[in-house]
Amino acid sequence: MTDGLKKKIVKEIKVDLDKCIGCRACEVACSAFHARPKYSSTNPARSRIRVVIDDLNDVYVPIRAGDYTPAECTGRHTYAINGKEYRECSFCGVSCPARDLFKEPDSGLPLKCDMCEDDPPIPEPMCVQVCPHDALVYIEREEDDGEEEVHREEMEIGLEALAKKHGLQKVMDAVARMSVSKKG
Ligand code: SF4
Ligand code: SF4
Repeated sequence: MTDGLKKKIVKEIKVDLDKCIGCRACEVACSAFHARPKYSSTNPARSRIRVVIDDLNDVYVPIRAGDYTPAECTGRHTYAINGKEYRECSFCGVSCPARDLFKEPDSGLPLKCDMCEDDPPIPEPMCVQVCPHDALVYIEREEDDGEEEVHREEMEIGLEALAKKHGLQKVMDAVARMSVSKKG
């Protein structure tokens, strides 16, 4: 049974750090797919996914580019662990003024993962398709569209107020008249 709410598709890429071998095929594929013309170059600096080494845990961490921010964070920390320094922003996906990551190298414009939206659509994002160890897994979930729910609630509250003021029958008659005049 359907609840009548509008649905939206939420796209996710699940990362399994235990499977990532740091081959960077995902970076190459992403940059090639987004080159203009498509596949005309492979430059990881143009990739919207970058693989960062986490020495502490001895793993590679693929990070996808998120939103651009015009101001860098304040109060960033640097941690020293076993004599090695780790910056708080090492694993951040934001394109920001504090570093060169996720910026188009020629123009300096921010890069953002688009989940490989294309026309016609591709079956799975490119980074997922090329990952040789299934470290990246594409997932699509269907969720209620919260906005639609809010609109419906607003409409119901409005109708309830009108019914209280004028009586339900009068409101229904008015709606019937409106729908007849719209058809005509
Ligand atoms: S392609 Fe897969 S295994 Fe290779 S670096 Fe990217 S996520 Fe890791
Ligand atoms: S989903 Fe597409 S745009 Fe996003 S990082 Fe992967 S290949 Fe790049």
